[in-house]
Amino acid sequence: MYKINKSSNQLRWVILLLVLAVILPTVCLLWFMTQAVKNERLALRQKLIDFYTEQTQTLFIDGPRQYWQQQRELIGSQSDQPPSQFVSNSIIFSPSQLTSAIVLDSNRNIIWPKFSLEDPNYPPDRQTAYDKLAEIWETEFSKKDYSQAAERYRELASDKEAPLWWPATMAQARCLQKTGQSAEAANTYQQIAWPEKIPPGCQHLVIQARLALLELYKSLPEKDFAAEFEKQITIAASRLLDLDTPTEVFYLTRLLEVCSKTQLVDKVADDIKRCQQIIEADSVALEVAQKLNNPSALENWPEGEFRRLEIRDTVFCCRWDFGKCQVLPIASAASITDFWQKITTELDDKMVFCRVVDETGKIIAGQPETYRGRLVLFGQKFLSHNLGKPFPDWKIELYFRYGIFSAAARRQRIIYFWTAVLVITLMLIIMFLSSRAILKQAKLSRLKNDFIATVTHELKTPLSSMRVLVDTLIEKNYDDVNTPDKYLGLIAQENKRLSRLIDNFLTFSRMERNKHAFDIAPASPVEIANTAVAAVQTKFENESVKFDMTVLKPLPMINADKDAIVTVLVNLLDNACKYSYDNKQIELKVFREDNFVCFSVRDNGIGMTRRQTKRIFDRFYQADSSLSRRAEGSGLGLAIVKFIIDAHRGRIDIESKLGKGSEFIVKINIV
Ligand code: ADP
Repeated sequence: MYKINKSSNQLRWVILLLVLAVILPTVCLLWFMTQAVKNERLALRQKLIDFYTEQTQTLFIDGPRQYWQQQRELIGSQSDQPPSQFVSNSIIFSPSQLTSAIVLDSNRNIIWPKFSLEDPNYPPDRQTAYDKLAEIWETEFSKKDYSQAAERYRELASDKEAPLWWPATMAQARCLQKTGQSAEAANTYQQIAWPEKIPPGCQHLVIQARLALLELYKSLPEKDFAAEFEKQITIAASRLLDLDTPTEVFYLTRLLEVCSKTQLVDKVADDIKRCQQIIEADSVALEVAQKLNNPSALENWPEGEFRRLEIRDTVFCCRWDFGKCQVLPIASAASITDFWQKITTELDDKMVFCRVVDETGKIIAGQPETYRGRLVLFGQKFLSHNLGKPFPDWKIELYFRYGIFSAAARRQRIIYFWTAVLVITLMLIIMFLSSRAILKQAKLSRLKNDFIATVTHELKTPLSSMRVLVDTLIEKNYDDVNTPDKYLGLIAQENKRLSRLIDNFLTFSRMERNKHAFDIAPASPVEIANTAVAAVQTKFENESVKFDMTVLKPLPMINADKDAIVTVLVNLLDNACKYSYDNKQIELKVFREDNFVCFSVRDNGIGMTRRQTKRIFDRFYQADSSLSRRAEGSGLGLAIVKFIIDAHRGRIDIESKLGKGSEFIVKINIV
């Protein structure tokens, strides 16, 4: 028992080691895989960060800086021209984000845009001229004496070279129109409307005259004349921007209104658009100029930086110094947003999205991520960088889109997963095969050990009792004359037992090596039963066994090796006798059942538990009771029985109850 425990302990250790040999590498492999996936993710993340940091530098820092520098240089290169020229031509009409600009002279006075229509070239005696005009206005507007006013205006406009000719002629035409002399009024307007040369400061009169003419001709019956005028005004509209002072917002606006009323819109659409741009730009510039028209406005404003001005929908204004002159380019909020939006779109992709935020954190450009209408961030911020000049407090923020790493790592993880599955499966197979081999080997060596131990033990008992008997006989250590005969008889009996034991061992050993060749042939079951009974008869008589044999005829022949089946029955009968108490009752019954002939051996002996009956066919198994020990078995008898029955393709059933007895039924095929 101890031996078995010891070897099974060893086995347990071997199997434990094997399991460890599988589990440890598996755990290591899994750990390695997790680490590898993690590292993969980190490496990918770092790669992306490096890539996008570089991209950010190029797209958001270097690119814009270069762009604004170019804009600055463009204006700088033209700063020798009159401000009105370079502002209108280079900024507004170049493909720039800048819509207008403010120009300051060395004394920080705003010299562009102009706040009034006053022209420094206007005649020096303009006050006197206006006084004269004012007198006639009195007649015209207060007295409403239009004919007299017209006459007086005409007198004032007698000298065509005089500076007053322009306003006076204009007023004369107006009065003529008011008195209903449309044709005369038209003729007078004509003189102003298409002059060969416009003196400085009179452009607005030219435009006014053209407008008046347009309205007048529409009411006149002479259609052809009106058509001719339309032709001329189309040409005039296209030349609008050739005027020296495009900031005359009011007149431009009026002209545009008239053009649209006269269905000239399509013909002068481009010009209108340009005019509108100018009007818009100039009016914004005027508003900005008004806001900045105080000494503190430009304080603490670093050169080359944009500032936000709350004018209309917010505008941005920068400060560039060119020598003593300063230019403050203006950009609308929309154009600045557009500028950054274009760049963010260039960087946005499946992996990342970016945003430009101002100093307050407000998003200027970049897709705000929304979910069910709410602003949600589906990403992780990995970069935040100041944009530098000209927007030093603004930032570019880069986010990894949600789930990009899992997507990238998924492929790698699948590869790792299947590798791990393969390796683990291989290891399990190897473990299974090797543990099977080890178990087989262990079982074999245990069998061998058990066999040797049993053989030695079983041989020792009869040998030692024989030695005692022989010694007694040699030393003549006895009184009774019958003793030698009695001892010799006992020696012969022990000898027989020894031979039977050795026979059993040999049979078993042969069977183990599969060398027992059975001679299967038709045999009589009754004959077999009789032979077996004859073999145990003496023993049964000695043990006072109440033996009964029943043969239920007719019985067919069976296909069997006669001697082998006799061995089976002898073993069963012998066991029945061995494992019974003193009042032994044994019965052998031979009968037919279906295609079998059954040999039933029943006793009233010690019986077995259910568990024991399952194991009794195992080699060397002995139910550990004092009786079985006393019976001096080897645990091989039933193993031999099973082997023989299996070789005959028969069956053996057991019914046993502990303390009540057992029945073994052997079933052998009939011929
Ligand atoms: P042994 O040489 O020990 O008799 P066997 O293989 O013939 O070896 O029997 C194995 C074990 O089965 C026995 O040790 C005994 O415990 C049990 N056994 C066999 N036959 C009987 C029986 N008729 N009644 C009770 N126990 C039995």
